[in-house]
Amino acid sequence: MTFQTKMLDCSAESIESAARLIKSGEIVGMPTETVYGLAADAFNEAAVEKIFKAKGRPADNPLIVHISDIAMISEAASEIPALALKCAKEFWPGPLTMVLPKNPDIPSVTSGGLDTVGIRMPSHPATKALIEASGTPLAAPSANISGSPSPTCAEHVLNDLNGKIPAVIDGGVCDAGIESTVICFEQNAIKILRPGKITAQMLAQITPDVRLDKGVLHPFDSDKPVASPGMKYKHYSPKAEVIVIDSDADEFFYYVSKQDKSGALCLIFGDENLDGFNLPYISVGATDVQQAHNLFDALRQADERGAKTIYARCPKLDGMGMAVYNRLLRAAAFRVVKL
Ligand code: AMP
Ligand code: MG
Repeated sequence: MTFQTKMLDCSAESIESAARLIKSGEIVGMPTETVYGLAADAFNEAAVEKIFKAKGRPADNPLIVHISDIAMISEAASEIPALALKCAKEFWPGPLTMVLPKNPDIPSVTSGGLDTVGIRMPSHPATKALIEASGTPLAAPSANISGSPSPTCAEHVLNDLNGKIPAVIDGGVCDAGIESTVICFEQNAIKILRPGKITAQMLAQITPDVRLDKGVLHPFDSDKPVASPGMKYKHYSPKAEVIVIDSDADEFFYYVSKQDKSGALCLIFGDENLDGFNLPYISVGATDVQQAHNLFDALRQADERGAKTIYARCPKLDGMGMAVYNRLLRAAAFRVVKL
C-alpha cells in the first residue's frame, strides 16, 4: 500500500499531533490566511531540507519564518529597525513578510544562503496554535510543488504532495488566496518585493516613501542581482500556457474569437456579459479581493478541465489587483499581448 498523507482537523489534539511531527523533525502542511504553507522547525536544518526536497524547490529560494507573537521576532532577526517595528504593530498578525538581518541561529538552508530572513506573524488561529505548540518559529514556503499554483485549500496540498509529507491540517479555504506582501527596508523607505493584501497604499500610512521593486512587474534580468530570489523562478504556472491580454473587454473577446479554439479557456476578471461567447471560461471575480481569493483555484481548475491555452484579460491594478497581476504575469511567464 502506498503511503498516504494524513488529513488533520484544527482540533487541539490534531494541532498537538502536528506539533509532535514538527518537533520530531518532520514537515506538515498548514493553513494560513494567505495560502497553505509547508512547515518545519526553522532551526532544524534536516527538517528544512525535507521541505526543499518535497517541493522540488531550488536551494537558493529562501523560506519565510513564521512566528506567533512579536517578541519572537528576535529569535529570527538580529536587528529590528524602527520602521519594521511600526509595520509589525500595524499589520501583524497578518499577511505581511518583512525581510530583516538574520539571527545567526537561523540556518543558512532556511534563508536560502542569504544573511537576511523573511519573517511573518500569521493571523490564522491554526497557524498560531501550531507555532505555539511546536515551541519554535516555523519555516514555511507555500505547500505546492515548486512552480505550480499555490494551494488555497487542503485538497490542493494533497493534489501536489500526497504521499510526500506525513500530514496536512485542513483549515478550510484560505481567506486572502494570495501569498503575503514581502517588503524590505531601505533607510526610511519601504520597498515592496512581492505585492499582496497589504497594499502600497496601506504601507504609506507607515512612511510616505513606499517603492515597488522593478521585479514586481518586470521579468528577472539575469545580469543583475535579484532582491527577492523567488522572482527569478517560473511560478504559479498551471500546465496550460497562460497568455495575458491587455485590452478592454470587447477587444479581448474579439482577439480570443480569432484564436485556435481547441483547448482554449478564458479567465474572466470582471463582470463581462458572456452571452453568445462559445468558449469555456472561469470567472475569477469582479473585485480585487475576489480575484485574489479565486486566482490559484481557477488556474488549477483550468488544468483539471484539460485547457491547453488560458487567455486572461489583464485585471485592474488597484488594491490587491497589483498582487493578482503580479502572480498572473508569472503564471504567463510574462507573455502579454497588448491590444
Ligand atoms: P513562498 O513562501 O513560497 O511564497 O516563498 C517565499 C518568498 O519570499 C521567496 O520566494 C522570496 O521571494 C521571498 N523571501 C523570503 N525570504 C527572503 C529574503 N531573505 N530576502 C528576499 N526575499 C525573501
Ligand atoms: Mg511559493
